[in-house]
Amino acid sequence: MNIHEYQAKLLFKQNGVPVPDGYLATNPTEAEFAMRRLGTEVAVVKAQVHAGGRGKAGGVKLAKSPEECRKIAEAMIGMDLITHQTYPEGKKVHKVYVEAGSKIVKEYYLALFLDRENAGIGIMFSTEGGMDIEEVAAKTPEKIATVVVDPTVGLQGHHIRQLCWSMNLPAAEQKEMTPIVRNLYKMFIKYDYSMLEINPLIVNDQGKMFALDGKMNFDDNALYRQKDVELFRDYLEEDEREVTASKYGLSYIGLDGNIGCLVNGAGLAMATMDIVKHYGGKPANFLDVGGGASQETVTNAFRILFADPGVKGLFVNIFGGIMRCDVIANGIVAAAKELGLRVPMVVRLEGTNVEQGKEILKKSGLNLYAASDMADGAKKIVELVK
Ligand code: ADP
Ligand code: MG
Repeated sequence: MNIHEYQAKLLFKQNGVPVPDGYLATNPTEAEFAMRRLGTEVAVVKAQVHAGGRGKAGGVKLAKSPEECRKIAEAMIGMDLITHQTYPEGKKVHKVYVEAGSKIVKEYYLALFLDRENAGIGIMFSTEGGMDIEEVAAKTPEKIATVVVDPTVGLQGHHIRQLCWSMNLPAAEQKEMTPIVRNLYKMFIKYDYSMLEINPLIVNDQGKMFALDGKMNFDDNALYRQKDVELFRDYLEEDEREVTASKYGLSYIGLDGNIGCLVNGAGLAMATMDIVKHYGGKPANFLDVGGGASQETVTNAFRILFADPGVKGLFVNIFGGIMRCDVIANGIVAAAKELGLRVPMVVRLEGTNVEQGKEILKKSGLNLYAASDMADGAKKIVELVK
């Protein structure tokens, strides 16, 4: 789960990570008043969408007066912001964050992330903040320092020193940064993040450090114990299909293709998407109904696929291990009867009770193509959709 920058900054503030003052505004009047309340000469109006790269795309603008702040908010709220992290049609801006303008002397990059490879919490620091860190990593990797913290031991002073020294940070800045890293590490454990990024972390004209941006990604599997965090969820920012899927407990990711895929097991789901692509098709989604799905789960999964106007064909690819093929077949028939099958469907079943499954589909009288194997199924659905 992702949250907005203004929400990330609330969490920063609560947990001892310095941020500039700011107020949320959902209309131009609120934006104007926000700047009056700040009382600063310069304010920054920032589009609140779940995507980075807003600065370059016109989603971060300077205002030199409350009236100008109002005008900027007027233009920004309601616009479709297109950044390199959004779909081509962009993301609708529903609110802006009006923040005190900082006098930036230096822009750094700081991130904490789940380092699965090293079974620890990674901390990445670079003096080349403000820009794409991917570009820094590709062109000048020596300008990024990384340490891995063993969570059973916890963050130690040497981790922070190593980050600072490898970037030749002046002593005064190291002193500023030390409590910030300590508090971020505490937050990382407390809130079950998978990633927490500050870009830029700035040094201002007084030599003080502030988090000017905040990206937070929470581990969905831990949300059950992060009730406060879950309240930050903004459904306007999320793919409607994904919201429904998460209500049904399905693992679903929406894509922009036209072949709806219903698969059990994440590995098989990936392989299915690969093979559909291989034969020239485009998957409309990733959908893993899980190893032990019930008939109801399958019906719910179909609900999402059937409701998606982008889906022009369905490819069901099931390997019945724990999951039985007859259960899947019953799910397909129930869903098709309830919702009406409006697009061609290809079904490939294999594994436990496969004969019973095929029999159920045959008897149902549904217009579907029974594939002999995965390749056959993928080829067929690509052909039918064309
Ligand atoms: P994004 O990463 O989505 O482009 P940022 O919040 O990082 O958005 O803002 C982009 C740039 O705008 C920053 O790198 C910084 O130079 C400038 N900026 C952002 N907030 C402020 C602020 N409060 N004061 C001054 N400049 C800012
Ligand atoms: Mg940024």
